[in-house]
Amino acid sequence: MPEGHYLVLARKWRPQSFADVVGQEHVTRTLQNAIRAGRIHHAFLFIGSRGIGKTTTARILAKALNCSGSDSPTPEPCGTCDMCTSIAAGNNIDVIEIDGASNNSVEDVRQIRENVRMVPSRARYKIYVIDEVHQLSISAFNALLKTLEEPPAHAIFILATTEAHKIPATIVSRCQRYDFRRVGLDSIVALLRGILEKEGVRCSDEALHAIARAADGGVRDAESILDQLVSYCNGEITFRDVFDVLGLVDWKVLHDLCAAILDKDVSRLLTLVESVVVSGKDLSQFVGEILRYFRNLLVCRTGAPRELLALPEDEANELAAWAERFSLTELIRIVEQFSELSQAYDSQLAQRTALEALLVKMSRRTVEVSIDTVLEKLMALAEGVGVPAANAAARKPFPEIAPPPAAEEPPADKKKIDEPLPPQSPSPALVAPKRVDAIASVPRLVSAPAAAATPRRPEPGTAAPRAGGRGPRHGSRSAPIPAPAPAITVNKEDESAALEDPRVRSVVDAFKGRIVDIKRAAPPK
Ligand SMILES: [Zn+2]
Repeated sequence: MPEGHYLVLARKWRPQSFADVVGQEHVTRTLQNAIRAGRIHHAFLFIGSRGIGKTTTARILAKALNCSGSDSPTPEPCGTCDMCTSIAAGNNIDVIEIDGASNNSVEDVRQIRENVRMVPSRARYKIYVIDEVHQLSISAFNALLKTLEEPPAHAIFILATTEAHKIPATIVSRCQRYDFRRVGLDSIVALLRGILEKEGVRCSDEALHAIARAADGGVRDAESILDQLVSYCNGEITFRDVFDVLGLVDWKVLHDLCAAILDKDVSRLLTLVESVVVSGKDLSQFVGEILRYFRNLLVCRTGAPRELLALPEDEANELAAWAERFSLTELIRIVEQFSELSQAYDSQLAQRTALEALLVKMSRRTVEVSIDTVLEKLMALAEGVGVPAANAAARKPFPEIAPPPAAEEPPADKKKIDEPLPPQSPSPALVAPKRVDAIASVPRLVSAPAAAATPRRPEPGTAAPRAGGRGPRHGSRSAPIPAPAPAITVNKEDESAALEDPRVRSVVDAFKGRIVDIKRAAPPK
């Protein structure tokens, strides 16, 4: 539909009062209270990402200050007087909107300074709304600062920016600062639902949520997506329509990608990237979709309520099935790395190669090495010098060693902890060790006859006992574990890498040092 036929929704339903502004109550309430109390500052700084209501709020504030339906500034502008209607339409001569990006020279600001001295022609206040104010040049900022330092009583400045850090501190300190937030999913859904009702268009909940998710906290983006959909569909918007209009990658592609990672199928992964590039899709959008997909798997894997996905039931079920094939730790790592990737690009080629490299890395699937594996290693070490393994296995962290950062264990692993020991378990000392302070009790035990009688074992590293003999995952024992075992992730293909992990090394090295000390301290035989 050509645009001339109707007003775009964002403009048609632009909020006209503070109460209509979505998701910025912390700002609008403060502004209204200030107006009510008659404490009107001469300079406001509105900070926040694009399309979340800064300019809209600036206009409402201008109406509130100048509304002629009231004798003084009012927290609730009438919306119908000359002032309100002309400000809303953007053609009030006393409310001057300036685009900081294209009027950023010192000359431009000087002109404002000249202009600002003249009293408003009809309104109470002469209001300057400077959008993208961070684009001003340094000399323009200096000129602006002079005005802000000694403003005429009738002048009010509303500065808006997406990049607060680019504004000189001298300017910021002269302004009352308001931080606008990205808008929550539910608020956007409610807003869209309201617009659709007024427009008489039906839309499924899943579709509404998909639009809100795609808008990622931006009200203007949500409205413009809705606009496209209203034009695209005929009175009813479905989940599938949202996919089509947004040019999202088909779920099937994402499932394929997931399967290829699981199958370590590198050539399929690269073929998938090729097919996305050839189809002309935007790679950063694609990475965003992968990120969202794995985030959804992560949500499923944690067992969190399915509503968090805001997806149709069959899609959610399918995702949950895929999620089961990864461990929680794997998914956390995948999400973290795609999240990093999504922030790191500038050229299409850099995007593509970074994406490919990461996908290949993902396909080399990993396992977790729990602290139990490390303890197992230490036990072998302890046995090597005649320390009873039970004490070495005491699960108390050594005081001088900071414990590795705690990570959540997948439920599957929790279950393994409770499993009975496999029959070929190497040493009875490994079973249900008493929790003893290893450091305090070791010297006594070393000199005890029982300990001396313990046969020496070969050097550690060559004969680390391993339950089940499969992998480090099976390091869990039936002993109670005081805290969730921190997981250290390494590549499965190279198990020895687990023991090269700096955290593991530091524990092993510290333990080795401790044993040497103990041997020195032990009375000579
Ligand atoms: Zn009015």
